[in-house]
Amino acid sequence: MISPPPVQHTEAAQQLINSLKGHEKSMINYSADTEEHQLRALVAIVDHRLTTSAGVCVVTTGQSGGIKTVTCSLCPSSPSTQGSERRFDKKNPIRKFTVHFVHDHLQVPKPFHCFGCGQEFPFSQDRDRHEKAVHRLYRPKAFKALMKQSGVPSTPSVDEDETLSTSLAHEQSDARGLSSVSSGQVGRDVVPVPNYPQNGPSVPQSEEVCVYNFDV
Ligand SMILES: [Zn+2]
Ligand SMILES: [Zn+2]
Repeated sequence: MISPPPVQHTEAAQQLINSLKGHEKSMINYSADTEEHQLRALVAIVDHRLTTSAGVCVVTTGQSGGIKTVTCSLCPSSPSTQGSERRFDKKNPIRKFTVHFVHDHLQVPKPFHCFGCGQEFPFSQDRDRHEKAVHRLYRPKAFKALMKQSGVPSTPSVDEDETLSTSLAHEQSDARGLSSVSSGQVGRDVVPVPNYPQNGPSVPQSEEVCVYNFDV
């Protein structure tokens, strides 16, 4: 059972993030999984607002209030296409735009890195799939899905508690008589997490920062 270091910002940076608009906050999460690269996105978003008074993108919302399209403000647009070549729509356009924004405009490598080998991926689900298939690393979402599949009952009142998930991960691992992979085997930046009691100190709460690892 291991956990990568969570992305934690200084108080000042966090205040700045809190002051962003909703879709811009989402962009920070989608921009990268390292503090350095998230800060680069944050600075670019704030800078662009200060210098042009416009955001880095223009969003339109549908009838339900959800974001329908996101158009990059940084890409040149020819009048004939009315910006369609820099417009993102359909499923989660903010995420797609953010990958374009950080990768093409900020030269951030593809935002999501495999915790095991460092390979870069444009979307978090691509990375999760790779981590599962190649390294048997499970992030919280993937881990919960796995638990559901294997029929481990969840406790509704504390279902979302990371501590419980961690605890379950350990029990599941023990129950099968399997041991966790040691930090040396799965690469750099791997931090072993002690087996806290269920109500003890919690593991990092933010999404997509914990990795559970066990052989099946
Ligand atoms: Zn662009
Ligand atoms: Zn990998």
